[in-house]
Amino acid sequence: MSSEKATAIVLRTIDFSETSSVVTLFTREFGKVRALAKGARRPKGPFESALDLLALCRIVFLRKSSESLDLLTEAKLERRFRPPGGDLSSLYAAYYVAELLNELTDDYDPHPKLFDAADETLAALSSPGRVSAALLRFELTALRELGHLPSLEACGECGTVVEPSGRVPFSQLAGGVLCNSCRAGQKQVISISAGALAALIRFSESDGDAWRHLELDQKTYGELRGVLNHYWTHLLGHSPRMHRWLSTAAR
Ligand SMILES: [Zn+2]
Repeated sequence: MSSEKATAIVLRTIDFSETSSVVTLFTREFGKVRALAKGARRPKGPFESALDLLALCRIVFLRKSSESLDLLTEAKLERRFRPPGGDLSSLYAAYYVAELLNELTDDYDPHPKLFDAADETLAALSSPGRVSAALLRFELTALRELGHLPSLEACGECGTVVEPSGRVPFSQLAGGVLCNSCRAGQKQVISISAGALAALIRFSESDGDAWRHLELDQKTYGELRGVLNHYWTHLLGHSPRMHRWLSTAAR
């Protein structure tokens, strides 16, 4: 059993007993960690508000070598998540970030860049700003960091550059957009407007912040939500619980 320190985002807490909780944390250093937090449910417990959902905290925990849960020994609050003015679309978007992190990552499989993206997204969602853009940026970054980013500029089958005009065929099975010759015979092909595809490319760029300046109208956001909701559902094998609440997030 070793004592570890980490920076963590609280993804989930479940009541374990009268006084204790089991917390799921996404840490920068170790990836997802599940730990028992003794006394967390007591009014003046040892963790105070550091274990509130979506909080960023510094933790110390005892890592168990066997199958049993790790034990949280310290948690110090760094930043609380508070949607600006109690805005529900920010809150739902933040819940969705937590849901994706929980579903997409494995215990003790660290992804520091994904952690930084989540941290940045939660900070953005707790201040006034565009929820839709922050969320799309997070989703495309998560897909890239986890190796699931579809091919958006070259045909997923043959690698030919696909000109983005009119509507462009897209197949999750083929791994992205399709050129006209590869489109024939492909199953489950949807089509994406050139405008929505250009936005996806912008949001998926690994560096720069051009995505921040992208104008996103309601129609394009609606189309992107449809494409991404379908993509995540296929990837995860089920529809994320928060999807139904995201259509309102076009702020
Ligand atoms: Zn092709």
